Amino acid sequence: MDIKSMSLDELKTEIVKLGEKPYRAKQLYEWMHVKLARDYDEMTSLPKKLREKLAEHYEYTALREVTVQTSRLDGTKKFLFGLSDGNLVESVWMQYHHGNSVCISSQVGCRMGCRFCASTLDGLERNLAPSEMLDQIYAISRSTGERVSNVVVMGTGEPLDNYDNLLRFLRMVTDENGLNISQRNITVSTCGIVENMRRLADEKLQITLALSLHGSTQEKRRELMPVANRYDIGDVIDACRYYFDQTGRRVTFEYSLVGGVNDTDEDAGNLCRLVGSLNCHVNLIPVNPIRERDYVESERRDILNFQKKLEKGHINATIRREMGRDIDGACGQLRRRHAEAIPQ
Ligand code: SAH
Repeated sequence: MDIKSMSLDELKTEIVKLGEKPYRAKQLYEWMHVKLARDYDEMTSLPKKLREKLAEHYEYTALREVTVQTSRLDGTKKFLFGLSDGNLVESVWMQYHHGNSVCISSQVGCRMGCRFCASTLDGLERNLAPSEMLDQIYAISRSTGERVSNVVVMGTGEPLDNYDNLLRFLRMVTDENGLNISQRNITVSTCGIVENMRRLADEKLQITLALSLHGSTQEKRRELMPVANRYDIGDVIDACRYYFDQTGRRVTFEYSLVGGVNDTDEDAGNLCRLVGSLNCHVNLIPVNPIRERDYVESERRDILNFQKKLEKGHINATIRREMGRDIDGACGQLRRRHAEAIPQ
């Protein structure tokens, strides 16, 4: 029984079952999700007897900080956390003018197989529980001593491949009794699991959906993303349109530019035609080369040209500022290096 994944209502039911007064649930919830307690012992306003009872009945998720690397370039911090079963996940803390942002992982590993991504090289190990997603934010907040205002679910894993836990996480992190992060400050990035994009749209949350496109035709996309074998690019774009229709939220397209693979004028033209009729924003990401593959970053000139071409087509496009390049910034690299360093 994972107590940190319970909603306040569920917690009330549990507390009453233990023979305690319902108001204890509110106190306990606040200790976990507002005061960010690391264990039951920190919950000093709860009677010792109750704390012991809780420890006996419920598992308490608290990630262990394994390493922190701080970028000398921009202050970005990359955290490697240990889970209770020994698995590792990574999360990133970034400071922007508009506030502090945390990028969290949604799974241990990933089974989507995108060709340029380090997170997927060893496949999926397991899903993360809601508490394990929340605690990445809590642990970072405690470690930095700063408030987190934005959350992006763009770390290791495919969030829409862990749909139920993701949804519970989203409800809890935006709960006014918890951290109370505004829905508008949350972004979920997906490689395009069409049926779950539609399910998420039907929840009518105010979060931003980011779609990893990376190719502007079905063929190009299939070269880089095996998931494109399951979903036609047209259906993915339709699901984005549906998301906008249901939520009124402008969709973000992520497009990682890979030198000589998807960065030509023709690619930009196809992209304009593909997304031109949508209320959207395109985020161009110079691919972060990983050792295990031979993809290279596009030339600066080609990146700027690509952006110009999109803007000529009246598509809002920005080039993502690269942060933490000096600290294994690309998805899954840190966890991988760590695993390599420890003899099996
Ligand atoms: N599974 C989700 C979220 C995790 S990846 C998704 O696919 O969207 C977050 C973003 O980083 C995705 O757009 C992903 O394609 C991209 N990405 C992964 N590895 C990268 C790399 N080495 N260089 C540039 N972008 C990368």
